[in-house]
Amino acid sequence: MTSSALRGTPLIERYREFLPVTDATPVISMGEGATPLVRLDALSECLELDVHVKLEGLNPTGSFKDRGMCFAMSKAVEEGATAVICASTGNTSAAAAAYAARAGLTCAVIIPGGKIALGKLAQALIYGAKVLAVDGNFDDALRIVRELSEKHPIALVNSLNPFRLEGQKTAAFEVCDALGDAPDVLCIPVGNAGNISAYWMGFNEYRDAGRSTGLPRMMGFQAEGSAPLVRGEVVTAPETVATAIRIGNPVRGEQAMAAMTESGGGVDSVTDEEILAAYRMLASSEGVFCEPSSASSVAGLIKAQAAGRFTKGERVVCVLTGNGLKDPDTAISQSGGVVEIPADYAAAEKALYGD
Ligand SMILES: *Cc1c(COP(=O)(O)O)cnc(C)c1O
Repeated sequence: MTSSALRGTPLIERYREFLPVTDATPVISMGEGATPLVRLDALSECLELDVHVKLEGLNPTGSFKDRGMCFAMSKAVEEGATAVICASTGNTSAAAAAYAARAGLTCAVIIPGGKIALGKLAQALIYGAKVLAVDGNFDDALRIVRELSEKHPIALVNSLNPFRLEGQKTAAFEVCDALGDAPDVLCIPVGNAGNISAYWMGFNEYRDAGRSTGLPRMMGFQAEGSAPLVRGEVVTAPETVATAIRIGNPVRGEQAMAAMTESGGGVDSVTDEEILAAYRMLASSEGVFCEPSSASSVAGLIKAQAAGRFTKGERVVCVLTGNGLKDPDTAISQSGGVVEIPADYAAAEKALYGD
């Protein structure tokens, strides 16, 4: 059994040798990581590729952010912090609020008003964070949070914080452990560009340690209305249904571009229609319910395959970054409606089988 199979073991313990931990680092954990890597049989056959998805929505608060947050929170406690703050499109705030609650720290989050999925807002509130909604976007929220953390004794836990990436790189280790080596290609949504940067660190460190041999081509996908890396310039008013990647000025943009270029991959955008088609397809033909932002990795794979970017049979891993339950509004609006019937047998039979 590989170490990644041990669900519930703190991520910091499973990959201790790869993380900058000391004897003084507390282990703040809820059993994050060790998420399933699932083969998509129908899509593999259709694309003539070997396609797997990494179900990061099965982390404790429902997104990959838990990997980085458990470590950032542990280091914040080690350094004597009593309060943390972040800007967030939703999932960072949910993870920060949960891990802060567990560590006994106070937590403040600043979110773009009206633009975060309902489930994420519910999480931040019930975990007890102080939630401020700005009349602006994520980039505005991050600018304010950076200034607050410079002027007050409050630790910043956005992915500017290097410990976030250290925790998140462990997902690359798990992918290698599950497949026996690195895949040929990694497809991943890109927002602030921390996660793709973390995966690239992880794949390189694992190979350098002799735990894997190859390196994947890194293919990052942004939403068309929010694609600063594709356009090569800041997007001042990013817009997309994929709210978790609605970011116009990614902090880790340069690092991510270097990873994509060095690895022989690249960055591209997908439209909201392509994202939502992949989102519905994953649920209805594979039984996998992710959030819209996550589906951009699969939408991107489908687009890249149509453009002839792969060799037949290549092994591809798409990262499904967050859980579909986070965003019930989009799920319901993208589905067939409920059929209302009276409480009798004949009505049910008629609705299912006709007259
Ligand atoms: C945060 C997030 C992303 C984007 O990750 P970055 O590190 O900001 O590029 C993608 N999908 C979901 C669901 C997220 O929560």
